[in-house]
Amino acid sequence: MKSETIAIHAGNLYRSSTNDVTQPLNLSTTFLRDADGGYSGGHMYSRVSNPNRSALENILAELEKGAEACAFSSGNTAGMSLFQALKPGSHIIAPDDMYWGFKKQLQSIFADTLEIDFIDLTDVAGISSYIKENTVLIWIETPSNPLLKITDVAAIAKIAKANRLVLACDSTFASPCLQNPIALGADIVMHSSTKYIGGHSDVLGGVLITAAKNELWDKIRNIQQVGGAVPSPFDCFLLIRSIKTLAYRMRGHCDNGMALALYLEKHPKIDAVYYPGLPAHPQYEIAKAQMSGFGGMLSVLVKGGADEARAVVNKVKLFAQATSLGGVESLIEHRASVEGPDTKTPQNLIRISVGLEHIDDLIADIDQALN
Ligand SMILES: *Cc1c(COP(=O)(O)O)cnc(C)c1O
Repeated sequence: MKSETIAIHAGNLYRSSTNDVTQPLNLSTTFLRDADGGYSGGHMYSRVSNPNRSALENILAELEKGAEACAFSSGNTAGMSLFQALKPGSHIIAPDDMYWGFKKQLQSIFADTLEIDFIDLTDVAGISSYIKENTVLIWIETPSNPLLKITDVAAIAKIAKANRLVLACDSTFASPCLQNPIALGADIVMHSSTKYIGGHSDVLGGVLITAAKNELWDKIRNIQQVGGAVPSPFDCFLLIRSIKTLAYRMRGHCDNGMALALYLEKHPKIDAVYYPGLPAHPQYEIAKAQMSGFGGMLSVLVKGGADEARAVVNKVKLFAQATSLGGVESLIEHRASVEGPDTKTPQNLIRISVGLEHIDDLIADIDQALN
């Protein structure tokens, strides 16, 4: 089945005497035992599993063409659960422009237990020289945040397989509707479901999806169930509701993203536009090959410095000046000041999450802010 169909049907796991068409919200934290002590309802205690979380995991595994999914209370926790599952002393290879929250996590929480090299993963030929005896994982993020770099998933999957490394991909900017890293050879896909999957800026969540059930996945499932950083049934219910329209929302984000990128590319006050759908993007061909659309995220360099960039984000009226992305409402931010003093993000960079408003209104707003 196609994503549109999976999105609407795979999220309904229900067993109800009221003949519901959609799966109801089930808030019970505990479930009845049978006479023999078993749990014929399939659930024991809601930290371990519950009907709404199982439905969410089911739909995400199907959408990402994986074997199973683990849902977490945030994207950061989803990533952290994979890092926690690695043996202390392991070496991992991560992108130099990794999502700053993960970079911070690796450099603080895992500083004493994991060895990390942050490298330019667009240089595929250069990766092998970083692989060591204790390397276990290559983490990629594509498109990347905030520079919208594209990483060649299939090419890096070959390197990972040849060296028996796990390949994990943060696919948040693409959503499960624009790219499926498992189909390209990745072992694990990660999403912040706070972003496109939720799509309405009102749920925090994260997910890992595995290509196969194996020892590493068992450890991750154990961290989820015993560690307990799980989403509530209501969070899962909201995410399932959001996913039903994900494919259609992504089409709108892609159309608006492309139109805004083309407009900004020609604007005299803009020095550079980072959007993988522009033929001028250095990895345009890879993006075209591995994505079915280019998404709604773009970054631009405003002519000048931090002051000129901040002037634009302060002058727009329709775009909300806020961090995060993937919601129906357009967001804009001066990225360097969000990331803090040790950021490598250019001071004149503005990151835009293009929402689903009419593109003419969005362009008119940016236009008045730039002029
Ligand atoms: C937001 C984000 C995360 C972290 O997710 P949270 O839900 O905020 O914890 C990870 N990766 C990327 C690319 C993100 O945009």
